[in-house]
Amino acid sequence: MADFRDLRIAIIGAGMGGLGTALAFAKKGFKNINVYETASNLGFVGAGIQMPPNVVRVLDRLGCWEEIEKEATDVKETSIRQGSTDEELAHVFMPDMREKYGFPHCTGHRSSLAGGLYNGCLKEPAIKFNFGTSLVRVLSWAPKPRILLKSRAQDEPFEVEADILLASDGIKSLTRTQMLSELGLTYEEADTGQAAYRIMLHRDQMKDDPEMLALLDCDMAVRWIGERRHIIAYPVSGHKIYNLSTAHPDTNFAGATNATYTTRGEKKAMFEVFGTFCPLVQRMLDLVPEGEVCEWKLRIHKTLPTWVHGSAALLGDACHATLPHLSQGAAMAIEDGAVLAECVSRIPADKLDDAETVTKTLKVFEMLRKPYTTTLVDLASHSGRVLHLGEGKAKEERDRLFRDNGKSGVVPDKWASPDVQKMIYSHDCVKEVIEKFDEVFASIA
Ligand SMILES: Cc1cc2nc3c(=O)[nH]c(=O)nc-3n(C[C@H](O)[C@H](O)[C@H](O)COP(=O)(O)OP(=O)(O)OC[C@H]3O[C@@H](n4cnc5c(N)ncnc54)[C@H](O)[C@@H]3O)c2cc1C
Repeated sequence: MADFRDLRIAIIGAGMGGLGTALAFAKKGFKNINVYETASNLGFVGAGIQMPPNVVRVLDRLGCWEEIEKEATDVKETSIRQGSTDEELAHVFMPDMREKYGFPHCTGHRSSLAGGLYNGCLKEPAIKFNFGTSLVRVLSWAPKPRILLKSRAQDEPFEVEADILLASDGIKSLTRTQMLSELGLTYEEADTGQAAYRIMLHRDQMKDDPEMLALLDCDMAVRWIGERRHIIAYPVSGHKIYNLSTAHPDTNFAGATNATYTTRGEKKAMFEVFGTFCPLVQRMLDLVPEGEVCEWKLRIHKTLPTWVHGSAALLGDACHATLPHLSQGAAMAIEDGAVLAECVSRIPADKLDDAETVTKTLKVFEMLRKPYTTTLVDLASHSGRVLHLGEGKAKEERDRLFRDNGKSGVVPDKWASPDVQKMIYSHDCVKEVIEKFDEVFASIA
């Protein structure tokens, strides 16, 4: 093989990471990209998502931001409030994201982010989607990865060979489990003890409540916090929908780590969890139709010993699942794809068939991304602990810092903290590869 564009890329999973990866490789000129996805279509959960400037930078380069932006809503300020009273603890203005970081901080519907990435992929003849097709097992990791797949369309499982295997198969990643087990390595789930309700309220449901309408019509994200629980909310879909996402004690899932991670929740239980929250929150929760309460277990794992084996690499939630408190999970998964495409396109022409070079190249991806993503995962966990404090000295100190409104450059809610925003939003993951690839590659024995 004389051209990196001829490398056969197999991607497992068409979530945010898989879609971003496929598009990034196509944009780099790769001609043979197959995406294998268990689900029969994109089928994204009805929920909102934040798209901070660091991921908008990547989406813009991938040529799909223009479409996504049409339905996106800017976040120009954030209000952190006492859940029980609705009293404002801090108000952080962020009207100048574009000026500071070159790109806006937006919110959107998950389906519009996924749809924008998918439509971008559909314009690329190099990408082939294989829906209804699951990875059963990795048969070999190197020199050429071979995978066993099962398609709903045929009875017998079948084998596929690729040059590089990229596993964006999410938090329950089968590839991760098999990879680490075959390497004799272990990894640990880190019990977050937290679960989330995801709620979308439509303008029609809110139209007779002026307080609710005010929230829907502004460019503001609101976080209502309380002991061991909080709610973050913001408008999406051009202010037509108000999205609420909660974090609260994981009482309904206790012990169920391997079975199902999503349950249909009960409205009564949701009201008990947020029973101490203010009337405005109660009124919004009351708009959720009975039978439409959905609850997610929030899962993460400790830093993995490796993301790479042979000619295969993990990406996204498969290797750095995070709590959502920093709104960076999907952003990091999409960035991973851009970094991988940039790294793999740097394999010299005479080394394309050299398995060792391929492994080293994937290791560069891991070495560039692991410290950064670990920092963000830790910051999200830290933020959760601070937001969920109960009465006491630590909470008093936190609230004192909140009252400073970020003027000192620091807010206890790391997502709203100007210092953390600067670190994350100015991060250009592709530029980092361009600047550091050779040095990091050379450092690998
Ligand atoms: C409540 C909540 C709020 C969040 N808010 C934000 C936010 O505001 N901003 C943000 O950036 N992130 C946010 N996140 C995080 C974000 O949703 C995830 O980090 C992101 O979706 C991970 O993408 P992924 O592609 O790695 O995994 P997934 O999106 O989980 O995709 C994995 C895909 O792989 C497929 N798959 C799995 N196994 C197989 C197999 N064996 N064969 C074939 N296909 C397979 C699955 O069907 C799935 O489609 C939030 C998460 C939660 C829970």
